[in-house]
Amino acid sequence: MATDIFETRESQVRSYCMNWPAVFERAEGPYQYTEDGSRYLDFFSGAGALNYGHNHPELRDLVVEYVANSGVTHSMDMKTPAKRRFLETFERIILEPRNLDYKVMFPGPTGTNTVEAALKLARKVTGRQHILSFTNAFHGMTLGALSVTGNSMKRKGAGIPLTNSSKIPYDDYFDGDLPDFIWLEKVLEDSGSGVDKPAAVIVETVQGEGGLNAARMEWLKELHNLLRRHKILLIVDDVQAGCGRTGTFFSFEPAGITPDIVCVSKSISGYGLAMALTLFKPELDVWEPGEHNGTFRGNNLGFVTAARALELFWSDDSFQKELAGKIEALHSGMEKVTEHVKGSYVKGRGFLSGIAFPEPDTAGKVAAEAYKRNLLVETSGPQDEVVKLMPPLNIPDQDLLKGLGILEEAVLAATGQLGEPSRLRPPH
Ligand SMILES: *Cc1c(COP(=O)(O)O)cnc(C)c1O
Repeated sequence: MATDIFETRESQVRSYCMNWPAVFERAEGPYQYTEDGSRYLDFFSGAGALNYGHNHPELRDLVVEYVANSGVTHSMDMKTPAKRRFLETFERIILEPRNLDYKVMFPGPTGTNTVEAALKLARKVTGRQHILSFTNAFHGMTLGALSVTGNSMKRKGAGIPLTNSSKIPYDDYFDGDLPDFIWLEKVLEDSGSGVDKPAAVIVETVQGEGGLNAARMEWLKELHNLLRRHKILLIVDDVQAGCGRTGTFFSFEPAGITPDIVCVSKSISGYGLAMALTLFKPELDVWEPGEHNGTFRGNNLGFVTAARALELFWSDDSFQKELAGKIEALHSGMEKVTEHVKGSYVKGRGFLSGIAFPEPDTAGKVAAEAYKRNLLVETSGPQDEVVKLMPPLNIPDQDLLKGLGILEEAVLAATGQLGEPSRLRPPH
């Protein structure tokens, strides 16, 4: 089937489809089907936008019903029953049981939108300009979010100086050789340090794009306490790590901390629909009406599926318990795979994990070999040195094991320990 139009008409800014040239037509659960009839097991999950798999049948039926009844689709920030139901459900199932009292803001519907809103709010509340972020952080592609992002290629794309932020070392940046926060603590206490007191520090608990570095809970706690002592706001960017990806709804829950501001997007709609939230403590709600605005804040289809997804997966702890078992299976499978390559090791936390290889080009080769065997896996890290595994959180056990089996074969093939795939396994 024709694919020329993608090459001739679409901008060369596209990226995923360069490595995965198939034309995907239908999708269900952990599988995507191409228009010429092959099936791919999806361990990418829209970079974390599809935590409950593709087209969950109950959510799909709700979308169909809502559209068939001419429910309001676009509403700016006007009131709709769909928004009411989402807010009530989010309060009841997510906030109240976790003792979290956050105001809910709907910024524009993407991850970078919620980060921009968070940075703007932190600056407005504190009257300070400077933001600190971490080495290898990724927070989005608009200017404010880019200014707190690490990747030099992406930063360069801004075309202008990215100002009013500096980078500080993430957990274990010095491989344990230096005590954590030694620099930060010192400069915050020294009025002669020349480092402007920041409005906020923005952090990912697991660096999804920056190589799956996972912060330790003690480190997060220490960061939280240090910032509190200095009256600096803590922003957790939970765009990728949130909505269950690491094993709990918010990724920071096991640390027992309460961030001042939380950024949520990717999987909050539960259905791959564009939606984002900026959550903050009520005393930070100093916005003027309309001071941060956007045309697509009222995505009612997203509200409808988001509310139902929270009910389906988070109304008691059964899903989280089941997920804990799957996380164990994923991690022991990955450990087994690392035995094939000297110096490779498992990184990340929960279902936001992967394998780092000593040779930076191995991960890319593994992803390519996986694709040949109908498994979608991405790479992560400053040199794309990590193979990243993000299956849907509700993946059936047999599909999880199947993906791990393909991964093992792909690793063997990429490292020259295996022949051609067609001789080993029948095609899917
Ligand atoms: C994906 C991501 C973003 C940006 O989200 P977009 O929807 O692509 O704008 C921001 N922060 C983190 C941690 C992300 O993973």
